[in-house]
Amino acid sequence: MSDKSLPTPDELQRKLSEFMRQQFGDKVNLHAAPVSAPQDAGDEVSSSGGPENSPFAFHYRPRDIKAHLDRFVIRQDEAKKVLSVAICDHYNHIRALRAAEEKGGDAPKLEYAKQNVILLGPTGVGKTYLVKHVAELIGVPFVKADATKFSETGYVGGDVDDLVRDLVRRADGDVELAQYGIIYLDEIDKIAGASNLAGGRDVSGRGVQTTLLKLMEETEVAVRSPMDMQGQIQAVMEMQRGGKPKRESINTRNILFIVSGAFSGLKERVARRLKQSALGFGAARTRRPEDFTEAEIFAEVTTRDFVDYGFEPEFIGRLPVRVFCQQLHADDLYEILQRSEGSLLRQYERSFAAYGIRTRFTEDAMREIARRAEGEGTGARGLSTVCERLLRDFQFELPGSGTEEFVIDAALLADPRSALQRLLAEGQQRLDALLAVEADEFAQEFSQRFGVELKFEQAARAALVARSRRENLSLRVVCEKLFKDYQFGLTLIQKNTGRSQFELPAAAIDDPDKYLSELVVESYRK
Ligand code: ADP
Repeated sequence: MSDKSLPTPDELQRKLSEFMRQQFGDKVNLHAAPVSAPQDAGDEVSSSGGPENSPFAFHYRPRDIKAHLDRFVIRQDEAKKVLSVAICDHYNHIRALRAAEEKGGDAPKLEYAKQNVILLGPTGVGKTYLVKHVAELIGVPFVKADATKFSETGYVGGDVDDLVRDLVRRADGDVELAQYGIIYLDEIDKIAGASNLAGGRDVSGRGVQTTLLKLMEETEVAVRSPMDMQGQIQAVMEMQRGGKPKRESINTRNILFIVSGAFSGLKERVARRLKQSALGFGAARTRRPEDFTEAEIFAEVTTRDFVDYGFEPEFIGRLPVRVFCQQLHADDLYEILQRSEGSLLRQYERSFAAYGIRTRFTEDAMREIARRAEGEGTGARGLSTVCERLLRDFQFELPGSGTEEFVIDAALLADPRSALQRLLAEGQQRLDALLAVEADEFAQEFSQRFGVELKFEQAARAALVARSRRENLSLRVVCEKLFKDYQFGLTLIQKNTGRSQFELPAAAIDDPDKYLSELVVESYRK
């Protein structure tokens, strides 16, 4: 053996990476990440719960799931109901399958069409939020991605498989649990075929649909990405060590797929169809298509409409549950602030509380925030935009400013700059008062120690506070410095004149030595 020292794991990894790149090019990565590594920024996370809420012990009724969602999600009642039913069907089926398997029955024979869901609706109205809370409640891993990602990279198959592998990561490496996870794909309308898109910008949409279709039906995805060389090497080494071979692939049969999108133009398409059929019925129809609400129009969406929109019939056929999430208006946004357990206001309250500041939003301020948020046109996301813009300076300035209570009211919304100045001034006063107390404490201790009573006039107290701020020293240190020889002078005066009480004016703070020596000189004159 050579006496060259062995490389550290880091060096080894670097060398291996280099080697791999030379051999196979940039497509191959050498991941050191364990299966539980944090996921890409931007994707929503939800991790699995404990065994008590594992999908195998599924014991919820649709009503229970809706009740849970009601705590967080405002409105969207239809979506909550439909989603709750789909979720119960899905996980009850899984439980039945497991039970049959345990009894040694022929499980796959149970007839079942998977209840994959399409959530229609504009941005920021709670589509992701609903799914995230469902996943959390029942304790299954949940991953979210934008469908556009697949058509952009041109590497559809690998990316789609990565979604499934992400479920394993989210389940802390528990492949079994990952097979019952939820995959949520947003912006699904963007992979509608070219026919729907102006200029045929996206011709690969149908290709993406076909790939996703395979996943939604049933396929096996390797637990380790073929691009993850470290994982591959690890597997080989484990095998050589005679370890039990780990499960190598994930079956997608029981993964629930939820897709969503705004589907712009679909409403008009359906409205047109309704209009035509209304014409057909002639005067028999009392309501004109214009009178239908958005929800009613979306309730009329058929598979045919989706196909005309640019989806493959097989793809749409695999998404039997369809539901519409409504646009949120100012009143709804107000309710979100007021009532949702996930309300942003709780977050702000916690953030200020960390600095000892109590926060309160008045009713009219919440109404105004909601009104402004509606103007943003991004659903409930507008609330964060408005609050962030409104409160960022307060979040920076108030900690440590002496403010103890922060009330966000209509006046503050009307003129935040003045409100901030006022709060800072009031905070300063409060801090000054606290410092002044320190001055009195010093005087008291001095009196006890040296047997002459020391006090500060109001103006002297203010001068001490100002000096402590200016010199950036604690008030006690300032006092100790200024009055370090005072006990000698004052006891001398006491001896000369019998005077035992001294209340110092501001002049004593400006020039303590001069003030004391004048007092001493005077005491001799007397
Ligand atoms: P999208 O419909 O685009 O998926 P999200 O569900 O991601 O929107 O909503 C963004 C954020 O806005 C959520 O994290 C949540 O805080 C808030 N939000 C959206 N809709 C609602 C709602 N209906 N009730 C309560 N909060 C909501």
